[in-house]
Amino acid sequence: EVKTEKMGFEAEVSRLLHMMVHSVYSDREIFLRELISNASDACDKLRYEALTKPELASGDFGISITADADAKTLTIADNGIGMDRDDLIANLGTIARSGTANFVDQLTGDSKKDMQLIGQFGVGFYSVFMVADMVHVTTRKAGDEHAWLWSSAGEGSYEIAEATKENAGTQIVLHLKDDAKDFLERYRLEKIITTYSDHIAVPITLAIKGGDKKDDDEGDEPKVVNEGSAIWTRPKSDITDEQYAEFYRHVGHGFDDPSVTLHYKVEGMQEYTVLLFVPTKQPMDLFDPARKNRVKLYVKRVFITDDSEDLLPGWLRFMRGVVDSQDLPLNISREMLQNNPTLERMSKAITKRVLSEFEKLAEKDTEKFEAIWDEFGAVIKEGIYEDFERRDAILKIARFKSTGVDGWTTLADYVSRMKDKQSAIYYITGTDAEAVKRSPQLEGFRAKGIEVLLLADPIDDFWLQMAPDFDGKPFKSITRGASELKDIAGDDKEDETEKAPEGDLAKLTALMKEVFGDKIKDVRASDRLTTTAACLVADDSGMDMHMERILKAHKQ
Ligand code: ADP
Ligand code: MG
Repeated sequence: EVKTEKMGFEAEVSRLLHMMVHSVYSDREIFLRELISNASDACDKLRYEALTKPELASGDFGISITADADAKTLTIADNGIGMDRDDLIANLGTIARSGTANFVDQLTGDSKKDMQLIGQFGVGFYSVFMVADMVHVTTRKAGDEHAWLWSSAGEGSYEIAEATKENAGTQIVLHLKDDAKDFLERYRLEKIITTYSDHIAVPITLAIKGGDKKDDDEGDEPKVVNEGSAIWTRPKSDITDEQYAEFYRHVGHGFDDPSVTLHYKVEGMQEYTVLLFVPTKQPMDLFDPARKNRVKLYVKRVFITDDSEDLLPGWLRFMRGVVDSQDLPLNISREMLQNNPTLERMSKAITKRVLSEFEKLAEKDTEKFEAIWDEFGAVIKEGIYEDFERRDAILKIARFKSTGVDGWTTLADYVSRMKDKQSAIYYITGTDAEAVKRSPQLEGFRAKGIEVLLLADPIDDFWLQMAPDFDGKPFKSITRGASELKDIAGDDKEDETEKAPEGDLAKLTALMKEVFGDKIKDVRASDRLTTTAACLVADDSGMDMHMERILKAHKQ
């Protein structure tokens, strides 16, 4: 007797599924790309496990797709890592991928808008419910003798029962909805697979069973339908932009197009291949505290990990893709990767290359580079803070908002616009770009035509502590102390030396000092304001005001 357990989906999953089931999405075919992508990942994972436990793998890896025209089912099977009961519950019952929960929060209930969101983010496995009204997943984890059957109609709950399965791996049977029967046709399936999954590095075979065989004289024999070689090993000239983009979506779990594709091979002292992408849109987990890198490390075509802290620095964590090394030992464990000198050298060289590509792009196609900066500048700037060696290189390409220009400016351009007697690069920081722009502190600087950088990313306060200057010009917060406005502007006819207040002003400042007591250090008359009556400033030797607030918030 088979024991079946009924379980409820996590609330977020239910919302997502509801949308899938009632979807009006026109690109439903992407469900197949999602399943193939997962099957390929599963093969990669088992191939890695089998490096140290060869008995786990059974023969060559492959993905098979079978359409049964009579049963109206589409079956996707792989001989990858498989899942045990806990894996099933965690992976196909909750929203495991970080950031996806955020995505669900953005859902509006308006199916058109929500479908657009899906187009941008994708929903992985759950997309099967766009085309199927019943899904059976039979799976057995490599090294485990138990197999499990997960079933669901995509509405609220799923069932898990013990099952039997000869080999490790996963088999997914989709009972297609009436309006999705076209996914049983050979021509349609072949086209989808070659469009979305040609880059998949394991063979994908397709077989059509049953039905009316008149136009389909290829019979039931499974036929390999993809290229089946790792895309990064192919020459650049053989790869189309669309193929690169599809690979990017597979490897990066992205749903946009890459904005930059960097594909090159290094030979000599070290040998490795790099295929990296800069996304167009921010990945959902970009600001996760874990700051995880997602670039996949391969050794001689074998997937090792997509979780290496040492492959790329944290401030490049928005990049996606693959690095395939010829030099690292194949049986390297993930633990052995820590502080590995070969990996370190490779990481340094790749980081340098990425930066020089950014530099070139910034020169050649400023608009494109600034679009990248819009999305990822806040992350790249973390490098100024934490990557001493790259500090100058990052400052060189960095872009800033400023009172002097409408769009972005470089520091070099800021410096070129500095007043003759100006020796510092002035900035103001805050948490909200609009509020920063309206700050009364800026009035005097605006009036005298002295440009101020408007910094509103949380990281700004931190890198400013680490980068004392650019091109010999110190960074200086305009909230600190009496600024040198009149000396710089030099064009003021009136006598503006900061005199001790006289008359009514003296009475006012004395009164204010009394009222505020030791909450303040001093009250001064200043020319930094033009229309606002008063503002708070920090002491010259003290801390920048925004920084002080941040530290207070963190109870430091
Ligand atoms: P993602 O692939 O982005 O993690 P999915 O929704 O596509 O998200 O899949 C969720 C998880 O389910 C995967 O991360 C994986 O752990 C598991 N999974 C899905 N399909 C398979 C499969 N064919 N073999 C093994 N595990 C799978
Ligand atoms: Mg997936």
